[in-house]
Order: sequence, then C-alpha cells, then structure tokens
Amino acid sequence: MTKQVYNFGAGPAMLPVPVMQQIQEEFLDFQGMGISLIELSHRSKEFEAVINNCDDLIRELANLPDNYKILYTHGGAQMQFAGVPLNLLGLKPAHKAVYSETGNFSKLSNKEAARYGEIIIASTSAETNYDRIPALTADMIPDDASYAYITSNNTIYGTRYHEFPDTGATPLAIDATSDIFSRVIDFSKIGLMFAGMQKNLGPAGTAVVIVREDLIGHALERTPSLMDYATYEKSHSLSNTNNTFAIYTMSLVMQWLKDQGGIAAIEKVNEAKAATLYDVIDNSDFYTGTAHPDHRSIMNVTFTLPDDDSTSAFLKQAGDNDLYALKGHRNVGGVRASIYNAMPLAGCEKLAEFMQEFARTQG
Ligand SMILES: *Cc1c(COP(=O)(O)O)cnc(C)c1O
Repeated sequence: MTKQVYNFGAGPAMLPVPVMQQIQEEFLDFQGMGISLIELSHRSKEFEAVINNCDDLIRELANLPDNYKILYTHGGAQMQFAGVPLNLLGLKPAHKAVYSETGNFSKLSNKEAARYGEIIIASTSAETNYDRIPALTADMIPDDASYAYITSNNTIYGTRYHEFPDTGATPLAIDATSDIFSRVIDFSKIGLMFAGMQKNLGPAGTAVVIVREDLIGHALERTPSLMDYATYEKSHSLSNTNNTFAIYTMSLVMQWLKDQGGIAAIEKVNEAKAATLYDVIDNSDFYTGTAHPDHRSIMNVTFTLPDDDSTSAFLKQAGDNDLYALKGHRNVGGVRASIYNAMPLAGCEKLAEFMQEFARTQG
C-alpha cells in the first residue's frame, strides 16, 4: 500500500479507493472475457449490462420517479451550459429563462444561455463576491419563462442552496456538478439536474443528466443532434460511441455509495466532515470563512488566513503532511478543502488537526 495522501482537489477529485482497486483488478480481464472494458463494444451485451446496472443504481439511490430519464452526455458539465437552453428554451414560445447568479460556473452558464434566448438574471450575489445565495422566489419568474436555473453548490465560493427554490409550475434546472448525490433530494420537485462526473461520480469529460421525460423533445431547431436530449433518450445514450469507461466507473461509484448505506447515510458523514472543519474556523481568530455561515457548502470549505505569507506556508506544510491540493481558487484566494463523497472523515480530521497546530505555532 502506498502512503495515505488526502486529496482535497476540487476536480477531477478523489475517487473511493475500493472503486479504483476494482478497476485495477478487472482492467485487463473484464468479467473473464480476456479483454479490457475499454476494448469492449459499447453495443455488446456486456456493456449493456454495465449501463443498465448504472441506471438501476441511480434510480434506487436517488429514489428517482419513473418519469425521469437518465442520460450520459458528452462534454462534461459545461457542455450542458449550452445543452440546457438548447433543449429547454423551446418549451415556451418566448424562449426565455430565469437564472440566479451565485458564482463563476453560474455566470458562465447564464452567458452561454444568452446566446440562445432571453436570459433574466433574477438574483445575484456578485456584489459580495458570491459569499451567499440570494433568494429566488416564484414571483420573480415570469409566466412565459421556459425554465429557472440554479447552481446547487458553488464549488469556488463554498456556498450551497440548503433548500431549492420553489419555482411553481416553471421547471427548475440545476447544475449539481459539485454536490450530486451528497444529500437527499426530492427529484419529483425538479425538472432537470446535471452533473459533470469528475467530482462525485467518476472521471472527467462526461456528464449525467437526469431529466423529467416531458421536458425532452423540445430542442431548438439548430441543436446539434449529439446535444439533443431526445437523441440520448432514444438510443440509451449510445447513438455514437460514448465514454464507456466513465459510465463503468460511475456504476462502481454508485455501488460503493450503496455499500456506504446510500445517500442519506453519506449525507450524515458529509455533514460531520464539514462540521469538523467549520468548527476549527469558527473557534479561531486566525482563519476566516469566506462563505456566509447560513449558506455554507458541505462539499467545498473555503477560508482565508491573515496574509499571503501565512497562506503560502500553510499550503507548503499541508503538502508536506500529505494534505494535497488545498489552494483556493484565485477568485477567492486562501484555502479550499473539497470534501466530496469519497473523502473519508479521517481526512477532514487530519486537516482539522493540522489547521489547529498551524494556527498555534504560526498564528
Ligand atoms: C466543476 C464544475 C463545472 C465544470 O465542469 P466541466 O466538466 O469542467 O465542464 C461546472 N459546474 C460546477 C458547479 C462545477 O463545480
């Protein structure tokens, strides 16, 4: 066994060790076939079993209603910044959508959407450097809007929606790339959720889109067919050669999540992990949390130190102690600990101890 490094990188992020071990064990010989999964046809019955298993596990874990479809889409999360408007704006003739702007990815998504229709930024926290979640309420959404859009967890700024807005009859679309399956969600209340795989699900470059079936089939005329949700739905995401390795890895991550007791169980662990770090921040004059306490993320914990020198020393010494990739995003500075589902509580405890020790000796 190699030394234990805790990887706090924002993404691609750590995967559960048992998942990577299983990949390693069956990499050269998938289920006794004598060939690797990455050499296997996406149309083979063996791969069909893999993708079906992934679907079944998602449905079971997320308690997904039958009228929701699971699509595996190309291009990672940001391809859906175009995919969502291209597929949903056509739900109403006005081609209008309402966005709440809560961070960098949120801003990129509304900019991209504005290429295809009329985008209303109903609320924003830009003026406080996205340190909080501004309210989005049903009365802010015009009747002719096709959908409302939020980013459930803001990876760079360390904030999240504790509860999703009630958008009335207007479908709610959510970028959940950095917190999908980290907490229990009532899917029946949302229209669409997408997530790039590289934070809580698997490798980079592929996304999963969970969408209510009546929202499929309204793509704007100019939508590339490989971005049209109807193409994915009809072909079970196999209209062309999909990233079979990503879907396979995700299926193993879903099985791992089930083995942990499912989403409700991992949510408890995630709450405990985040509390371990926020406790140190809140009981210290040395560290300052950057997110408003009412809107704190349990996936990305962001904080600053008194000055650049102490921040550099912190990051250097953390690295020497096998606490990897803690540098904050340049928009916020300081430190960011990304603690997705795969991060064990022990990793957060080790970081908390290191933070206390560092403040005691350098503070
Ligand atoms: C990481 C992230 C993205 C970007 O994902 P890509 O797969 O690189 O496009 C988008 N949205 C959120 C919320 C993210 O955390």
